[in-house]
Amino acid sequence: MANHAISQHVSASLTRIPSQPGPADRSPLQPGYRLVPTQIGQPGNTATVWISCPLFCTIDHANERQIAVEDVWHSGDLIDLEMPHHDGSALLAFFRLGLDPHSSNPAQRIPFIFAEDGDSSVGRYMTPDDLERFCDQAAETLAQLRAMAHACRVLDREAAAERAA
Ligand SMILES: [Zn+2]
Repeated sequence: MANHAISQHVSASLTRIPSQPGPADRSPLQPGYRLVPTQIGQPGNTATVWISCPLFCTIDHANERQIAVEDVWHSGDLIDLEMPHHDGSALLAFFRLGLDPHSSNPAQRIPFIFAEDGDSSVGRYMTPDDLERFCDQAAETLAQLRAMAHACRVLDREAAAERAA
């Protein structure tokens, strides 16, 4: 009888635990993924669920609770594009790899690149082609900027020499 009461209590608790991954999530682990513990549920009523997480992901799922497994998404480290200036540095943009396995958008159910503007919360999805095109353009821009730095240095040196003369 006591066991019955305990099992009723356990089943009552289990009904409050959010839905668990469906059959699709029980497939063998894909290359490039590992199993990680994830905290799922409401405050005070959580369960640890093991999920497949891409190796690029740096989110600590065990300590970043989500209400349901469907809410779990994955992110790599941010790569910042910074502009140094007299008073410090300004963040122009930052980029990350992401994966949202339960997204309604099929393009987000596979690894994707997400870029965010450093000034606003506006984010943009990029394809690998977009990012490579950006890198090619940025490499040209950086060469122009290096030439600008060189030109400024030469002009400053000439101005200093004139003042000294
Ligand atoms: Zn992850």
